[in-house]
Amino acid sequence: MFTDTHSHIHFAKEFPDVEDLIVRAEEAGVTNQIIVGCTVKDSLQALEFVKARPGKWFWSTLGVHPHNADQLTDAVLADFERLVGEEEKVVALGEMGLDYFRDFQPHDLQQETFRRQLELAKKLNVPVVVHIRDAWDDAMRILGAVGNSKVILHCFTGTIEYARECWRRGYHTSFSGVVTYPKNDYLREAAAEAPAELLLIETDCPYLTPQPYRGQRNEPAFVVETAKCLADQRGLTTEEIANITTENALKLFGIS
Ligand SMILES: [Zn+2]
Repeated sequence: MFTDTHSHIHFAKEFPDVEDLIVRAEEAGVTNQIIVGCTVKDSLQALEFVKARPGKWFWSTLGVHPHNADQLTDAVLADFERLVGEEEKVVALGEMGLDYFRDFQPHDLQQETFRRQLELAKKLNVPVVVHIRDAWDDAMRILGAVGNSKVILHCFTGTIEYARECWRRGYHTSFSGVVTYPKNDYLREAAAEAPAELLLIETDCPYLTPQPYRGQRNEPAFVVETAKCLADQRGLTTEEIANITTENALKLFGIS
């Protein structure tokens, strides 16, 4: 059984056929999914999506992505705090972080929004789903300063040096379809070296489709390709990768 720790299948526009895609995922053994929110509204939609499917092993997160950093207000933080307390399906905060590549929001505002969500997660003792693009030094400094212990570097694409620093701090590195791309030997090196207990897999669907489906819309069933790539790197079977990463996810998100 596979756990896709970063899925956006609640995006109604991208996934009009979502029920078919859930069936395909289950047929591929991808039974567990963390549905990740990116804006205030989107986070609430992720929660509604999960609550509408109580029989599934689906959970959700609440977060303000750096692209939307200006959305985070005191009222939003208060709502997030209340929902973490009230809703058992909410298992983490994020996605949150810094994105200096797209650079949609001023850096100081991105940093403030990131820090405030990290502080709330630390207070509530829930994991954080972190997005970092072209902002590793600032992101690692802020993470270290706030001192969260339950951290997921979603779609890890940092250097091996940053990877080692993440593992030294006990952060989880989550590998996406990007690890399967032919030119990304540096990521396969990290996938081979990662401590087993800090390893996770994800799709980030509809984005970042793995080989051999690259060019198509991504979907949870394709996380199996990322697992196969990790299995090759580590000399394990795909099933062993499925078990290791699912165990890690259930433990980290406090799901039983
Ligand atoms: Zn995402």
